[in-house]
Amino acid sequence: MQIKFLGTGGAFDIDYLNSAALVTVRGKCVLLDCGFTVYQTLVHKNLLHRVDHILLTHLHNDHCGSLANLLLHKHVVDKAPKPIILYPTDQFKSQVYELLKIQVKDPDKYAEFVPLEHFEGIRAIDTYGMHSEGLQSFAYIFEEDDKRIVYSGDLGKPDVLFDRLSRMPALHTCVYHDITFNPENTGHTFYKKLLPYMNGVEMFGYHCDPTQNPADNPIRLVFYQKDLLA
Ligand SMILES: [Zn+2]
Ligand SMILES: [Zn+2]
Repeated sequence: MQIKFLGTGGAFDIDYLNSAALVTVRGKCVLLDCGFTVYQTLVHKNLLHRVDHILLTHLHNDHCGSLANLLLHKHVVDKAPKPIILYPTDQFKSQVYELLKIQVKDPDKYAEFVPLEHFEGIRAIDTYGMHSEGLQSFAYIFEEDDKRIVYSGDLGKPDVLFDRLSRMPALHTCVYHDITFNPENTGHTFYKKLLPYMNGVEMFGYHCDPTQNPADNPIRLVFYQKDLLA
């Protein structure tokens, strides 16, 4: 199992590209989020052909803004098999479907929709309203052999995620958490709020502008970990 980030920026940190990653789990390659810079990054890095599954954390544009383009490219240009969009709940599937319907008319022509529970090794944590009021969002937990990868998605209130983790069997765990350096930003997790959760896990921060990183932040930023970048 491995994770390689395609970008680590926040919604407006375009120099660092939209936060997204390719996760290789149980022999499949899962694209985790597809914001407006992701399609271009995949093409530039010649990685588009690797994507066979797609999983979205929520439908803000920096997490889904180039999904339609990716699907069209695979169908029209590459004539590749339809990628599988994994969905954690029926309601979220409908939201993704409606969004794509406006853009590509017939989403089923370009993607297959499969419930996440049919894919072994990934579980969703419902974080509804914990990033943005009234907005559906999810964190995801990937497991293979004796390793666990946790991806927060955009999350302003991390307690529910760490509470769930504390009740799961002990495994070597890497947590990738969105992070903000501004205490007024309630949509993302202020780095000091993550400090109590660093025990027993490896933690990395993303979805931020790394140049704003305060000197007293002990959480390593994904941006500086070259082995975590695609
Ligand atoms: Zn975001
Ligand atoms: Zn968001």
